[in-house]
Amino acid sequence: MQVIPPRETDLGGLVVRRLLPRAARRTIGPWCFLDLVGPLSFRAPVMDVPPHPHMGLQTVSWLLEGEMLHKDSLGSEALARPGTLNLMTSGRGIAHSEETPATHSGRLHAAQLWVALPDVDRDIEPAFDAYGERPIVDLAGGRAVVILGEVGGVRASGRTFSPIVAAELTIDGGAEIAVPLARGFEHGLVPLTGACTSAGDPLAIDHLYVVEPETGTLRLRAGAGGTARALLIGGAPFGEEILMWWNFVARTTDEMAAAREDWQARRRFGEVTRYAGDRLEAPAFHAKPVPANPMS
Ligand code: MN
Repeated sequence: MQVIPPRETDLGGLVVRRLLPRAARRTIGPWCFLDLVGPLSFRAPVMDVPPHPHMGLQTVSWLLEGEMLHKDSLGSEALARPGTLNLMTSGRGIAHSEETPATHSGRLHAAQLWVALPDVDRDIEPAFDAYGERPIVDLAGGRAVVILGEVGGVRASGRTFSPIVAAELTIDGGAEIAVPLARGFEHGLVPLTGACTSAGDPLAIDHLYVVEPETGTLRLRAGAGGTARALLIGGAPFGEEILMWWNFVARTTDEMAAAREDWQARRRFGEVTRYAGDRLEAPAFHAKPVPANPMS
């Protein structure tokens, strides 16, 4: 399997590990962004991302530990906890903030992902959905929590716009699981906790493993020392060229510049009125960035 090591990025004092998009791999199916945070222990709240805009995508927040409070320009306020799914469909435009709530467990371990919306759906009205308990598929030697899409014939509720899957895999200590993979999908695997191997090769925590095409069954074995957990994402090849800049997914640089202007002028995306504090300013947009010159 192709392996992509994480790249650390500092989001205002909070270090995240980015796995998508990367030069080696831009997308897995429609999944175009994947950040991991934690596991962290803290006293003072660690996460405080002020209101910022999104367009052309869905955001998926999945927690292994801790809490995250979402507020958006539709007036939604939702607490994400392990086992629940926060799914925000930006459509043509939405703004949101993400914070550690005042009452918290002092722990945070989370994955944040974006799904690119197909061209025919990307201008729809924005929406936010919080889903409770996700279905669990019993696999000999472990289990899969279906976050979105379907595993082994068990489908999770949740609004999707192209064929897609996400699941949290648990492998019991010393056991092996066989995860059925959808035909024709691209798949990526991210080990999150514990020691696990694939075909005898140890897999590194927080690395993205791109599953070989046409793999019908993904076999993962946990070390004898204890349970291992991993995130599986996948989907049909997206088949559309996307542009990504800041918090936007678009098709042209003109759209990108227009979205930036609308955010700065307080148009289109709305206001996160429940957030106590200032919104984020958009960075400068360069329509034709000059490639870095290693000689200068
Ligand atoms: Mn966001």
